Amino acid sequence: MNLPDAHTHSSTAASGTAPQFICGTSPADWKQVALLAERDEHVTPFFGIHPWFLNPAEWKEEMPRLESLLQKIPHAGVGETGLDKCRRGIPGLPLQKEALERHLELAARLDRPASLHCCRAWGTLAEMLTKYPRLNIVLHGWTGALHPGTELPSGNWLLSVGLREMERPGLLASIPLHRLALESDGHPETLPELYRRAAQELGMTVNNLVDLVQSNMENLIRP
Ligand SMILES: [Zn+2]
Repeated sequence: MNLPDAHTHSSTAASGTAPQFICGTSPADWKQVALLAERDEHVTPFFGIHPWFLNPAEWKEEMPRLESLLQKIPHAGVGETGLDKCRRGIPGLPLQKEALERHLELAARLDRPASLHCCRAWGTLAEMLTKYPRLNIVLHGWTGALHPGTELPSGNWLLSVGLREMERPGLLASIPLHRLALESDGHPETLPELYRRAAQELGMTVNNLVDLVQSNMENLIRP
């Protein structure tokens, strides 16, 4: 696969020559993500606890392991983590916020990019991010719920869009080109169609779009 992927997961990762941000979602897959990054120089690994997999009894004890993993892999980012008010049966917002805060603090302290998930909690997320204005962030599954110019911090963030988000009319055109990223979220088979449709909507060639997303991703990890 030679299409850049700003957000995917270890279970479906395929090697290629395009950059990939592969996100761990809980301690259960961190090892696999680390292994993929070790084998492929195009992979930037991210490690974090996704709100769906937040274990109220254990997550705090997992944070030191997260930190030592990040220390061991200097090009690794923090995430996938974030806030989710859509899904039932997961810990509530107060606990999610507490865990996210720890992730953000870690990313800021170690100067690492963060990959963030957000479902119907954009206002809360934006408010939390104001404390970390210089953080480099990939906002995954961007749905256009925030006005990027006014409500996001001034750091170097990317708004990452998948095939599902493309269903929203005008979404792509609302994203400044230097903020744009594209993602499979663990479904690499969707990338060719995603790039084709996005290039058509933006009036550019697929090759130019590949170059744009690739350079945006590289700027995020090597600003
Ligand atoms: Zn994801």
